[in-house]
Amino acid sequence: MRKTVRYEAHLDDYGLITIYLSRQFYNGKSDVFYLKKPEGSLHKCQILNYELSQGDYNKYIIQTTEPIEIGQPYEVTEEHGLKVPLQYSLITKTARFDHEFYYEGDDLGVHPSEEGTAFALWAPTATRVILELVDAPRKSFEMHRTDKGVFRFMVRGNQHGRQYLYHVLVNGHWNTTSDPVARSATSNNSASVVIDYTKLEVERFSHRLPPFNSPTEAILYELSIRDFTPQVESGVKARSPFVGLCELGTKTPNGISTGLSHIVELGVTHVQIMPMYDFSTVDEDNPSTFYNWGYDPLQYNVPEGSFSSDPKDPLKRVHEARAMIQAFHKQGLRVIMDVVYNHVYEMESNAFEKVVPYYYFRRSASGALSNGSFCNNDVDSNRLMVRKFILDSCKCWMEAYDVDGFRFDLMGVLDVETMNAIDAQCKSLKPDSMVYGEGWNMPTILPEEMKANMGNQAKMPHIAHFNDFFREHVKGRTSPDEITMKGYCSGDTSFYDAMKAAMVGNCLPGMVKIFDQPTQSVNYVECHDNHTSWDKLKECCKEDSRDVRIKKHKLMIGSVLLAQGIPFLHSGQEFCRTKNGQHNSYRSSDAINQVDWLRKERHLEVVQYTKDLIALRKRLPVFRMSTASQIQNRVSFRNFDGMLVMHYVCERKNPYHELWVYINPTNQIYYERFDDFVEILANEAGLLENVKAQNVTVNPYTMVVFAKK
Ligand code: CA
Repeated sequence: MRKTVRYEAHLDDYGLITIYLSRQFYNGKSDVFYLKKPEGSLHKCQILNYELSQGDYNKYIIQTTEPIEIGQPYEVTEEHGLKVPLQYSLITKTARFDHEFYYEGDDLGVHPSEEGTAFALWAPTATRVILELVDAPRKSFEMHRTDKGVFRFMVRGNQHGRQYLYHVLVNGHWNTTSDPVARSATSNNSASVVIDYTKLEVERFSHRLPPFNSPTEAILYELSIRDFTPQVESGVKARSPFVGLCELGTKTPNGISTGLSHIVELGVTHVQIMPMYDFSTVDEDNPSTFYNWGYDPLQYNVPEGSFSSDPKDPLKRVHEARAMIQAFHKQGLRVIMDVVYNHVYEMESNAFEKVVPYYYFRRSASGALSNGSFCNNDVDSNRLMVRKFILDSCKCWMEAYDVDGFRFDLMGVLDVETMNAIDAQCKSLKPDSMVYGEGWNMPTILPEEMKANMGNQAKMPHIAHFNDFFREHVKGRTSPDEITMKGYCSGDTSFYDAMKAAMVGNCLPGMVKIFDQPTQSVNYVECHDNHTSWDKLKECCKEDSRDVRIKKHKLMIGSVLLAQGIPFLHSGQEFCRTKNGQHNSYRSSDAINQVDWLRKERHLEVVQYTKDLIALRKRLPVFRMSTASQIQNRVSFRNFDGMLVMHYVCERKNPYHELWVYINPTNQIYYERFDDFVEILANEAGLLENVKAQNVTVNPYTMVVFAKK
């Protein structure tokens, strides 16, 4: 309620109206209220309840028995003749509203063809909607209300590339807005743009993707489009990020590979791309002036303009984003898109709120906004048309852009049913697509059993979660005030039991169990958030030499790559990425955020080690078991004076019968003598070939892997 407003009337349920009357106006008192119908008749309402507030307003709950046709303009008149439009408010949150207005068709948005371009906007509480084609020749059309509150208009001819806006008359106000399901936009979303994808085709290379059977076969690599190629020393010619990521064979001045070629050489299977939908905080007319990661969504189905070679050309961003994804596919890499369906940049100016006020954002029974996302506008995913919006949006990125899965930011703000529906849809479009997210328990207004968080993992068996237990115990605590605390790999062997549980993806009984299956655990020590693990090591292992810290850094990378579950690496982690100790660089400069390829030149040994451990994981199925029972049957542990010893009895498809992983985070050298010769597959030097021994030495801060046929 705005303090300058004297009087508001909200339809909060069928027949129930909440009135706020300013105490500045007749002391906020009215003994009678009338509903005025669109055709002019007045109907007295019954006052059910009132609260004479000590604050600025008196609140009344009144009831009308007149049937209300949603979308029609009603007014409420008080005793002194003051009248206001009846707003369709919390009524939009009722199950009955969802039942009456859920529209299941797949023709919302704009569908151009040679015969005509069909515009369709779901706006059930709107009284009128005008479609405006804003570029010359400027034209306006009154749209027709059809079934389920969908407003439609057909414009002659294929309007591909045409700019448009909607003017929506709702709750007594005209709102000018972009199309919430628009496929492209002018710079900074000043208008939506009609896109005919068939006119922006790129060659598809999905057939080049290697077979992929279980999520545990994925090796995820997170990168930011903006950070990856802009450094001049990357040797990447294109200055625009979408195009830069497509370049192959790029090198530093000293001939070390960079960009896409670097990712290909590393051997990861999937890239996870930080937000690439249209976000708000980078001025697309001046992209280099501002930096932001982009967790501030503006238009969910539009690629971000600042990544395009020409943000002012609404066709280019679509074409270049599609081409970039195919450039990855051509190299056998799958693409996971980071999506932020939990909140938007700003509720009031967002198309959702302008088209159907109150509907898209979660509120308490009294109308207060839910704030589980800490942005004060949690997307209300369990409303039927919000769920459908998210499903349609994911479908758009899979069908038009060919992405291979999604990483859900603050998934815990969304609900279980929505996430399972998304997963089912993804699998129906691409059986090997992946869905995972941040399953933190967020304080959003949802019953605990409905939240899509780790606590409810059993209800979402095919969805994986970032495993923060792994991160906190393998590396050490992450929050800035605990940054000096070590984890197991950084040297605290008191975390032996935690390390054991983490190395099996926290899915075994008898130890810390978080997941039912290893396919639900995304194992990581570093991502875009928080200190990089190198910066963390500088804080928690101050006493160590640089050489020791490099060993511990490798030990963490090795642990991520050989743990059961889904390994996840942050770009640059493989060459000790630093952000100079900054723990939250979401709007820091390019200088802090960009990938420093000269650093790769200085840490080639760590790059090689990462590459080798990736190769080892890919070679031996025993590191990629897809069920907890397999792990239970095949893995056993031994505490060797603080060193974790894992023993594997391998399935036949492995080239070995038995295998051991020794993880030594201490400064001690350990010796192990075997009766027979064993083959040492990897140690701190990376992969070894044809090294057989009866005596195995495990050096300080290293991991040794050996096996027997
Ligand atoms: Ca933008």
